[in-house]
Amino acid sequence: MSQANASALVVFIGAGPGAADLITLRGARRLALAEVVLFDALIDPALREYAPNARWINVGKRGFGHATGQTQINALLLQAAQTHQYVVRLKGGDPSVFGRLEEELEALRSQGIACEVVPGVTAALAAAAQSQRPLTRRGIGRSVSLSTAMTHLGQLQASRSADTEVFYMAGRQLPALSRKLTEAGWPGTTAVCVVSRAGWPDALTTWHSVTTLADAAAPHAERPAVVTVGAGALALTHKTPCLERHPACQNEPAP
Ligand code: SAH
Repeated sequence: MSQANASALVVFIGAGPGAADLITLRGARRLALAEVVLFDALIDPALREYAPNARWINVGKRGFGHATGQTQINALLLQAAQTHQYVVRLKGGDPSVFGRLEEELEALRSQGIACEVVPGVTAALAAAAQSQRPLTRRGIGRSVSLSTAMTHLGQLQASRSADTEVFYMAGRQLPALSRKLTEAGWPGTTAVCVVSRAGWPDALTTWHSVTTLADAAAPHAERPAVVTVGAGALALTHKTPCLERHPACQNEPAP
């Protein structure tokens, strides 16, 4: 390993769940300073406009072998920090939620490289906004749990540890998740909401119960999705008017 670049800074920025304008103002400002940007799959290409002169490197895990992906990303980050002063690591959603941030921070800290983390909108929150189903409900929903449905060993797991449970990385396993939720003690009639590509113009929301969750597999196939179970998935009394057709949303400025 070559010498650490004592003056380098690596900024981890949460890009948000989708469309470029869901990044925070601080994230966009830091991004504009980047000399080099290491970005994940699922990042909106429109974000490049915030740092047009930076070198953009795609480190999406799809481009690497499964076992070596994270090791290679860590090595690329270190290399970038050794050759540049201002490095941005752009991650989907929030860097601290299912982003393996701890591994990347450890790799950089072990070489004495300074880091900063800028939060972003995580998929669970974008899904709640998309479906207009709040994750907490006064009187009936006082706790929210964010879980990955897949363990690091590739096993599907479900729990009932909060009034609202939001499962990430379950998209390919919805019929099995329905069974696991039942085993975990959720009644079959419990409300379930599935949102894929939350925050993108083609976001899709479907509503189910624990028993009928398998119906969501076809409409959400091959799309990143979160599954919200319990109080936070309950329908409101009045139906949602169609936002896309609202005159106030027609003339939104481009990000
Ligand atoms: N750090 C990210 C999560 C990365 S794990 C965050 O904070 O959101 C990847 C998982 O996130 C996907 O399998 C899916 O479950 C979820 N996800 C990411 N983007 C999404 C989106 N736009 N809509 C719904 N789910 C999304």
